[in-house]
Amino acid sequence: MFALQSDRVALRFGDRTLTHTELAACAGTLAQQLSGLPRVAIWATPAIETCVAVVAALLAGVPAVPLNPKVGERELAHIVSDSAPALVLAAPGTRLPAGLDSVPRRDVTLDGGDFGPFADPGDEAPALIVYTSGTTGAPKGVVLPRRAIVSTLDAVAEAWEWTSEDVLVHALPLFHVHGLILGVLGPLRRGGTVHHLGKFSTDAVAQALNDDGTMMFGVPTMYHRIAEEVGDDLKLADALSGARLLVSGSAALPVRDHERIAAATGQRVVERYGMTETLMNTSVRADGDRRPGAVGVPLPGVEVRLVDDAGLTLDDAGAIGEIQVRGHNLFTEYLNRPDATEEAFADGWFRTGDVGTRDEDGYFRIVGRKATDIIKSGGYKIGAGEIENALLEHPGVKEVAVTGEPDDDLGERIVAWVVPAGTEPSPGELADHVARLLTPHKRPRVVRFVEALPRNDMGKVMKRALRA
Ligand code: ATP
Ligand code: MG
Repeated sequence: MFALQSDRVALRFGDRTLTHTELAACAGTLAQQLSGLPRVAIWATPAIETCVAVVAALLAGVPAVPLNPKVGERELAHIVSDSAPALVLAAPGTRLPAGLDSVPRRDVTLDGGDFGPFADPGDEAPALIVYTSGTTGAPKGVVLPRRAIVSTLDAVAEAWEWTSEDVLVHALPLFHVHGLILGVLGPLRRGGTVHHLGKFSTDAVAQALNDDGTMMFGVPTMYHRIAEEVGDDLKLADALSGARLLVSGSAALPVRDHERIAAATGQRVVERYGMTETLMNTSVRADGDRRPGAVGVPLPGVEVRLVDDAGLTLDDAGAIGEIQVRGHNLFTEYLNRPDATEEAFADGWFRTGDVGTRDEDGYFRIVGRKATDIIKSGGYKIGAGEIENALLEHPGVKEVAVTGEPDDDLGERIVAWVVPAGTEPSPGELADHVARLLTPHKRPRVVRFVEALPRNDMGKVMKRALRA
């Protein structure tokens, strides 16, 4: 699965580093101790030990469940009883919450000793169980086989021309697909380097890209911070201009942030679209047209189709339908949820619950999630994202989320939750701005000003919480 023998740095966390050869030695030693266990949990702090633990579990063929170190009591209790880990692996000195008292702990040390041989658990064996972000409901445990991980990493490597020379600048958490599978296992499979910043800051990103970083993976909230600062920060602008690839995913990158970064650096962020259940589906390719608001084309080996409410496949450019996916990148099942697993598939295609469109030339655009982003108002189906992008073009809007709420006349009315930039613009002015840019029926009927939007650990807006 990995390039295990190389003197190139595999992992850099602050001033702690491991080469690929050193990583293989310490992960191999830990793997010997894990062999035969049914399942382990990993307390996934942003530390080198988390990566060693994950690689060890993969080498031993023991399914691993990465845990969010900021997880709340109730969610932790659910995950522990749902996944029943035999051990929890943690970096020495980290404190574990009382919710893990019933699970024996094993500290991850960086001692290198024996290595293998390990039995090959086979491509379909569960390798990781990753809980979804919980944006739309309680998190579900997604069982990911080795086959899905390997095929997605090889597909993005091809699309992004990713090699062992690449040094990935990384500041994402390590308990989701984005930060763990793409951000850590990606560079390890390529034989390249992960440089993890511990905590995101624009200064740290600039420093790391100026050192030897060649690419960066981030979520839209990070690119938003960069967009806010890059116009006045020459060092940051210079660092981004020199990068080979800036990739955004996990949520939609606002068009305004994409354009501001491009204007200041000449560099257009590449967007990709993926999810825990399917890993990566589509991406703008390294040599492709980096179009704002679009998530690119299906990755090699991935089939993507759009389906209407009656289940018919839509082939016309611009038609809006649910995105469904098929390919080696798919998960096997939701842990302990045969009902949810069955419901998630339609004739072998995974129903993403996301709605999208396709441009003439095959580029996909995400309209939003069926559950929270499609507003049915006055007989129209309106995507929240388009209105959000329009509102962000108004100078009085810093951040925004659009939702629908029940309305006697319209079925649903459009509500804009606005974090103002400076003085609050008037609601009427914002509504007129949307009507002018888009069409009158897309104007928000209600504008609510808020200090901040509720976001989860990945920076995704929790529309559920807004509506409550
Ligand atoms: P839950 O399934 O628990 O509600 P979640 O769907 O947020 O949480 P993830 O699997 O981490 O959990 O996120 C996948 C979702 O993120 C996708 O279904 C899609 O809605 C969104 N997403 C990912 N990449 C993009 C992108 N580039 N543009 C727009 N949305 C994206
Ligand atoms: Mg989801």
